[in-house]
Order: sequence, then structure tokens, then C-alpha cells
Amino acid sequence: MIYADYNGSAPLNEDIKNFLIERLNENENFANPNASHKIGNRLTRRIEKSRKSLANLMGCKPGQIFFNSGASEGISHVFHSILDPYVCLPKDQKPCIITSDIEHAAVLKTAEYWDSKGFNLHQIGSKEDGTIKLDHLESLLQKHPGKIGLISIMAANNETGVIQPYKEISEIAKKYGIPFFSDTTQYIGKTPFNFEETGMDFAVSSSHKIGGLIGSGFVVAKDPTLLRTFIHGGGQETGVRAGTQNYIGIECMGKAANKLLEEMEHICELKSHREKFEKSLKAIGVDCYVVGESAPRLPGTTLISFPGYSSKELQAKLESSDIFVTTSSACSDSKSRISHVIKSMGLPTEVGLAVIRISICHEKAEENYQEILKNIRTLLVEK
Ligand code: PLP
Repeated sequence: MIYADYNGSAPLNEDIKNFLIERLNENENFANPNASHKIGNRLTRRIEKSRKSLANLMGCKPGQIFFNSGASEGISHVFHSILDPYVCLPKDQKPCIITSDIEHAAVLKTAEYWDSKGFNLHQIGSKEDGTIKLDHLESLLQKHPGKIGLISIMAANNETGVIQPYKEISEIAKKYGIPFFSDTTQYIGKTPFNFEETGMDFAVSSSHKIGGLIGSGFVVAKDPTLLRTFIHGGGQETGVRAGTQNYIGIECMGKAANKLLEEMEHICELKSHREKFEKSLKAIGVDCYVVGESAPRLPGTTLISFPGYSSKELQAKLESSDIFVTTSSACSDSKSRISHVIKSMGLPTEVGLAVIRISICHEKAEENYQEILKNIRTLLVEK
């Protein structure tokens, strides 16, 4: 079996799975981490140890990390923190939001929600290579001086793997004094990252995208005082996100961070395997198009189109050979429609209807790519 849907969710890493099994056998270490007894204190220390590991992965200080249930929550938390203070103002005094039209639904829908509350939403389109139109961002900022309250643009796209010019966006945001949040969900763990150097004000991550357990994640804030309480209750996470911490999920996430840091060199090598794979795919003699080919992309993501074929058909045929790819993003899998990302890039309909996303990790990369290549060739050439 080849699992090629790492952008959808990375399977639980083998080492983390073994850690989890051992951890679940530690009969005495289950309690409320906020309790003042010995077990509670021990669990708190483990949570803080994980926070340190994740801070190493993120290139930030442990105190800038706030645990939650995952990226979607982190995204909502950031929007809430920046926009909620203005919610009672009349519409014409409310700040506007800038985002791109290639964001994940977690950002798109959150931005639409705030738009419905009177915070005008402006969306930036993307170029044919899948990177956002930076000049459009600048022109919006010039057109609405002092009116923009938040810029939210992803670091890497989940469908194409295209890496956005987040450093330039940070500089522009800084020039205009506007908070910049980048949805880093796909970026973290797939390529080296240093939050401090990026100039971002906020970033997010989900544990299941980095080899940990589903249901945990975190938000990073350059200035933690800007985070407003999102879930009210106990004083967990300095009071900004109440609720008894998912300490097993957090411990696993800390272990996953350590593992990624240890293996980052190999993770980066994945890029050359991917390039070789794409070159071989283009040489099989079937019309194909690598989406975002000329832009910088995540090491293990290929969104490829075989015009004339249907995405669903290709996916199903590969699945019958035990190769699991997606047609685009997991969320749009049940519908045969062109994704909003492909539309934004202005690619032809026949390209959009025939894409499959192959997203793998660095382990056994060469072997897996060869096997996928062999199966695609059999499917399309030797049919
Ligand atoms: N942002 C991006 C770019 C994603 O790819 C995803 C999930 O695929 C999310 C946000 C939401 O992550 P989660 O479902 O873990 O909350």
C-alpha cells in the first residue's frame, strides 16, 4: 500500500505510535494536568516539555505557543482576537480583512463569517504559477489606507503545494502596520521554519499533519497579549483557551516535533526525488501538466493533471492498485468540480477536471515514487 495523501493527514508516525502504546500503559499518569497533586504536576511538566520541543520546531519561544484542537481552531482564534474588539462599531468604522482566494476553507469560511459581521473582505487572486498577486495586495493597501485590520495569507497551499511569498507579505504588512497571520498548516514539518525570522504575527499547526495524533494543535503569537480569550472557562493556556488540555495529544505532538527536527535534512531531500518523479511522469508520453511547476513548492507535493481523463477515475484506478491519492483537496473529494485554487490560477477546465494530488513523506520516497510512476504508466500508456 502506498499512502500518498500526506497533505490530507500524515499517518501516525511509527515512533509516535510506539510512544503512545507505552504511554497508555503508564497506568498512574492519567489525571487532570491542572490538579495540584503530584500526578497533575508531572503531566504539566510533560506539557511544558512538549511546548519546548514545538518551540524548537517553530523557531519561537515556548511562551508564544498556545495549545488547542488544531489549525481550524487556531485560525478562528486569530480572526477572533484581531477583529472582535471592533465588533460593536458601525460597519463603516470596522476594519477590513485581506485574504487570498486560494486559502483552505478554514480561512475562507472564517473570513466570510467576519465579512457577514460587517468586516469587509477583500480577496487577492493568484497567478498562473499558483503564487498570490503581491501587486494586488499593495494596491489594496494603498486604496484603503488605515482601513485594513488583518492580512491572512497561507504559507503553502494544500492542493498545489505552492509556497507563497510570505516573507515579502510580512514586509508589506509591517510597512503598513497591519497584523499578518499566515496559515502555516501545510508548511510546518515539511520544510525548515523559523517563526521569528518570517516576521509573521501569527501561525498555526495541526498535529495530524506532522505525524502526531488527530485532535491537537496550536497557535503561535508573536505578541501573546494580542490573543483574546476564545474559549472561556478555566485558566488553561494563560486563560486564552480554556479546557483541560489534551495532554496525550500534546505529548505526542512534542515527540513528533523532535522527530521532524532530527530528520529535517532527509525531509528536504524529498524535493529532488519529487523533481525526478515529475520529470519521469512527463516522459511517459501522455499529455500532462504539473500544476504550479515553476513556483517553489513543498518537497513532497505534486498536483498533476492528465487532460482528457477524469480525476475520480484516475484516483479510483490507482486505489485499486492500493495507491491512495486525492483528486484535489480532501474536502472537495466528494464533488466533481474544479477546485477554487485551480480556478484562481486561471487554468483550463480540462486541466482542472483531471488533477490528482500525490503527497508523500520522505520515508521510502524514491521507492514510492517509482511504484506510483509504474502504475500511472500502466494505467495511461499500457491500457
Ligand atoms: N489550513 C490548511 C492549509 C489545511 O490544509 C488544513 C487541513 O487540511 C487546515 C487549515 C485545517 O486543519 P485541521 O483540519 O487540522 O483543523
